Amino acid sequence: MDKNRGFMDFDRKGIPERDPNARVHDYLSIYTEEDETQLRQQGARCMDCGVPFCQADMGCPIDNLIPEWNDLVFRGQWREAYVRLARTNNFPEWTGLICPAPCEDACVLGITSPPVTIKRIEHAIIERAFAEGWVTAVPPETRTGKKVAIVGSGPAGLTAADQLNRAGHTVTVFERDDRIGGLLMYGVPHPKLEKWMVDRRINLLAAEGVEFRTCVNVGVDFDAALLYEEYDAILLACGALDARDLQIPGRELEGVHFAMKYLTEVTKSLLDSGFSDGRFVDAKDKDVIVIGGGDTGADCIATALRQGCRSLLNITRRAQEPTDRGAQHPWPGEPGTYFMDYSHIEGAAVFGRDPREYGVLPLEFVGDGEGRLTGVSIERLRWDRNGSEASRMQRTGEITTFPADLVFLSIGFVGHDAPEVVKQLDVVSEKGLIPAEWGHLVTSDERVFVAGDMRRGASLIVWAMAEGRGAAREIDRFLMGSTELEAPMPAPRHLANLRTD
Ligand SMILES: Cc1cc2nc3c(=O)[nH]c(=O)nc-3n(C[C@H](O)[C@H](O)[C@H](O)COP(=O)(O)OP(=O)(O)OC[C@H]3O[C@@H](n4cnc5c(N)ncnc54)[C@H](O)[C@@H]3O)c2cc1C
Ligand code: SF4
Repeated sequence: MDKNRGFMDFDRKGIPERDPNARVHDYLSIYTEEDETQLRQQGARCMDCGVPFCQADMGCPIDNLIPEWNDLVFRGQWREAYVRLARTNNFPEWTGLICPAPCEDACVLGITSPPVTIKRIEHAIIERAFAEGWVTAVPPETRTGKKVAIVGSGPAGLTAADQLNRAGHTVTVFERDDRIGGLLMYGVPHPKLEKWMVDRRINLLAAEGVEFRTCVNVGVDFDAALLYEEYDAILLACGALDARDLQIPGRELEGVHFAMKYLTEVTKSLLDSGFSDGRFVDAKDKDVIVIGGGDTGADCIATALRQGCRSLLNITRRAQEPTDRGAQHPWPGEPGTYFMDYSHIEGAAVFGRDPREYGVLPLEFVGDGEGRLTGVSIERLRWDRNGSEASRMQRTGEITTFPADLVFLSIGFVGHDAPEVVKQLDVVSEKGLIPAEWGHLVTSDERVFVAGDMRRGASLIVWAMAEGRGAAREIDRFLMGSTELEAPMPAPRHLANLRTD
């Protein structure tokens, strides 16, 4: 195999997926077996650019050493590839499956050809490492005697827990749900990320000494201020789980649900009882409308399809994305182009068309007179691609009603939903988020740090992990006076100096 011509000799091939017509009948992973020769060919497509944009500012938020491990995979040096990957990424088995891969948007090859399938290679490296037994529990040799409390067990909290534990601090993670993982557990559906993959890592962290306390709603089950007495530092990683509502007439009708409630219940029932407890909203034989796009909307589509819905529509006010990068989306940033996520492909396989309809404004939830939803009244919008945001969207007066027994609201999140914790710790909260300077991540109290969606607003797993690493470094610096923990976010120089001098 010749790496010099790899990008000319081999076409891009993404992670192999199961037939969408088959996989909508189960909750198993949508992915299928990897092929080693194909993986090495994909590694060979990497050009090892002088300036690797994939790991620069617009690329991977955790600064993964991408060209290095692409080359090692091409050479078949899997163990070395794993060592390089583990240096920057605490949980590649999660990002390798569900990260939207900004690294690939920034890949130099992507200027003229389909980019290197970086995410696929990342996932293959870590799964090879697990299969070979290279990933083992490594508890720290010594403990510092310092104690850290982490509130929230999503990717931000878990990444910080891993880093701080490695540094020898005693870490306790508090989680109000009955399972650890945040949105990785109750949010991202099982077919996209099977939950044993979350548990496998949690078990390792526990074996390394991280303490997990589930079913503890900090601020509700006990006064958060008590954490000040027992812990030397506190990290808030509560996410941004306050869902945005759609207050139009008929909102109270039976059948209108928040997407997160739906997704959480389905996963919990699957894990608790294989659905035999019946404690979830069932879309079987129902007309379903998902309002809003994004990952959450896509995951509702996938779930309703698996339950056997009668019809499915995903409506959004937005205009359909163009097929090519526009002037507002220059390389190496996000392309902003139209693409079909896993559930849109499944929807097309089942119903013969992409379930998304663009330029649709919901006006009213229509009921049957007895409190039950029967449809959604909407108005068509016309989008003019020129002009300001306001002038671009025009109402047409064209009104119609779509039939619906169930509606799932997936129109974003307005901030965190842990006001008690914030109040009891007495830290500043603004517009539903906890402000903290980029890189330093300390709140208005020097003992309390914040990371992930709770600081930046609803975002991505890889950004939550980047902030988790950043917060761990700053907590370590706060506790010990200096730190050797690595993190992708540069700390503001004056603050870093203050603490290391
Ligand atoms: C349905 C859905 C699908 C998504 N899919 C993707 C995807 O495919 N790829 C991607 O990159 N991103 C995806 N995202 C976004 C991603 O999941 C989040 O950006 C990420 O999980 C944020 O991590 P976090 O650790 O900040 O918070 P979270 O993952 O939200 O975790 C916060 C945790 O804190 C807990 N908590 C809150 N308050 C308290 C309290 N008072 N006491 C104890 N515990 C508390 C919560 O129960 C929760 O478990 C998705 C989001 C959603 C909603
Ligand atoms: S974590 Fe995401 S952005 Fe970084 S290399 Fe992996 S897929 Fe790319």
